[in-house]
Amino acid sequence: MIPQQIKACVHYSGGLMSWGAAKLACDKYGAQNVVLLFSDVGTEDPDVYRFLVQGASALGAHLEIIRMNQGGAYVKPWDIAFMKKIIPNWKFSICSGELKIKPALAWEKEHLPQNCPIIIGFSIEEIERIERMRKRKDGYIYEFPLAEKPYTSVCQIREWLRELNIEEPKMYAEGFNHANCNGGCFKAGLGHWARLYRERPEVFAYHEAKEKEWQETTGKDITVCMRKNQRILLSELRELVDAGIIEPSYYRLPCACGLIEDQLELNLTEQ
Ligand code: SF4
Repeated sequence: MIPQQIKACVHYSGGLMSWGAAKLACDKYGAQNVVLLFSDVGTEDPDVYRFLVQGASALGAHLEIIRMNQGGAYVKPWDIAFMKKIIPNWKFSICSGELKIKPALAWEKEHLPQNCPIIIGFSIEEIERIERMRKRKDGYIYEFPLAEKPYTSVCQIREWLRELNIEEPKMYAEGFNHANCNGGCFKAGLGHWARLYRERPEVFAYHEAKEKEWQETTGKDITVCMRKNQRILLSELRELVDAGIIEPSYYRLPCACGLIEDQLELNLTEQ
């Protein structure tokens, strides 16, 4: 049940950092007064859902799950791509805007009191995003407990989880830096998609089929990935990985898409 008096709302994403921020928020405001807000796009790894629920339960805070539905079914990132006739990318992550940011803002407007602290799991490494969010004048106070001294590290968060006997999302052990959207994020680059093919071929196959369907439906030649400024189909990428021409990379996925977008502009360029 939603707390009668909400003293803080955490943007809770299913990742380690947002859980760490949630823990610090519960320590500060009391778990009974904290809401963990999760926007579900329906494409998370099953183990991420396990972590979300288990992590919230261990903290004792209310987990509020919001979902965009159409005809009783989830609206997923590829549905947005079909509806808008755009494949989202690192610059225009309209999937996040439509499925996470807008529903979260609507929920917050309806349920949160003015000046309610909104807790975000940014680390001190994300100081520029923090500065941008601090300038917002939308009636809320944004707090970044991981970026305050003594600067909580991911190692510390793992230690807290070990003490609570909670296993972190399995995707981290597979080398993913973020646990969003089952590793299939439109904001990722070629090397990440190559890694997804190696680590989770069934997830890759889903996206490969969707990309093909999207092109056939829209008549456009837009692709999820680019290689040397040229479009490359996921099916072509798969063949290049199989041939050893493209190697999976472990570079940092440029997506921290929980509810933590600091870019609200959803203006899109023509594709
Ligand atoms: S994780 Fe990536 S694909 Fe999923 S909603 Fe966020 S930006 Fe879109």
